[in-house]
Amino acid sequence: GTLFLNGRYLPPDQASVSVMDRGFLFGEGIYEVWLVVERRLVDLESHLKRLDRSLRESGIPVPLERAELVAILEKMVCLNNVTNGFIYLQVTSGAGERSFTGTATGRPTLLIMAQEKDFPGAISQSEGICVDLVPDIRWLRRDIKTIMLLPQVMAKKAAMAHGNKDAIFYDDEGVTEGASSNVFAVMDDKVILTRPLSHSLLPGCTRDRIIKLAREAGLDVREQVITQDQLFAAQEVFVTSATYLVTPVIRIDGRTIGNGQRGVVTRQCQDLYADYIRNLSPI
Ligand code: PMP
Repeated sequence: GTLFLNGRYLPPDQASVSVMDRGFLFGEGIYEVWLVVERRLVDLESHLKRLDRSLRESGIPVPLERAELVAILEKMVCLNNVTNGFIYLQVTSGAGERSFTGTATGRPTLLIMAQEKDFPGAISQSEGICVDLVPDIRWLRRDIKTIMLLPQVMAKKAAMAHGNKDAIFYDDEGVTEGASSNVFAVMDDKVILTRPLSHSLLPGCTRDRIIKLAREAGLDVREQVITQDQLFAAQEVFVTSATYLVTPVIRIDGRTIGNGQRGVVTRQCQDLYADYIRNLSPI
C-alpha cells in the first residue's frame, strides 16, 4: 500500500513521525474515517465538515485547503486500488518540545491511509451483533473526534473478553453512543429514537444521513435520549457508523432485544442507505 504523510506518498515502512509529535506525546490529534463503496466516497462533505469542526474546536491547525485534500483522498483511493474499503485521516498538531502549552515548531502532521476492506454492513447484513452496556467513562467533549481512544479501546477489549462484539456507553441520562457508533432504538409504536446532539456524543455522519433518509421515507425519527429501560424494551436496536453502516444489535448485556433478529425498521434503514450510496457518483 501507499500512504500519504505530510505531502509525500510513501510505502508504510518508509513513513515515520517524530517521537516529539504532540499526537504521540499528548494525544493532541483528531481523525476521520470515510467509507468507500464501489469507488464512491460516502458522505464526503459531512466528514470534511466534521474534520474542520474537530480542528477548530481542538485548536489544531488546518493542514490543507479543502480542494487539495479532496484531490488527495481520491488519489489515495486510486493508488491503493480501493473498490470497497475506507480512508483513514489523522491530523496532529505536529512536533515540538514536550510542554503542555508549547506549540508545535513545524506544521501539523497529516496522515492518510486508504485500504480495501469488506464491511459486512455494506451488504445490508442480517446478522446482528451482541454488545456490552457500560458506563461512559470518557471526557465531556465527545463531539470532537479525537485520537484519544483509550476508553473505547478498553471497552471494546472488555466486550470481546465477554464474547461480545462491541460496547454501548450510557451516562446519567441514558445511552450516549456506541464505542465507535451511534445508537438508534425502535420502540413499539415504530418511533425511532436517537440521542440529540450535544457535547456528550459524536455527531455521526451516518447518524445524520440515516435520520434524513428515514424521515424522507416517512418514518418517525425523534432525537430524544434513549433511557436504559427504553433500550432493553425496544423492539429493535441498531448502530450506525462509516464502517458499521446500519448494523442490528440483537443482545445487550446478555439480554435479547425484540425477537433477537434484525427488525423490519432496521432493514428499511439499511435499504435506504444502500440506495443512497448506489446513487452517488463514483470517483
Ligand atoms: N461515535 C463514535 C464514538 C465514533 O467513533 C463513531 C465512528 N467514528 C461514530 C459515533 C459514528 O460516526 P460516523 O457515522 O461519522 O462514522
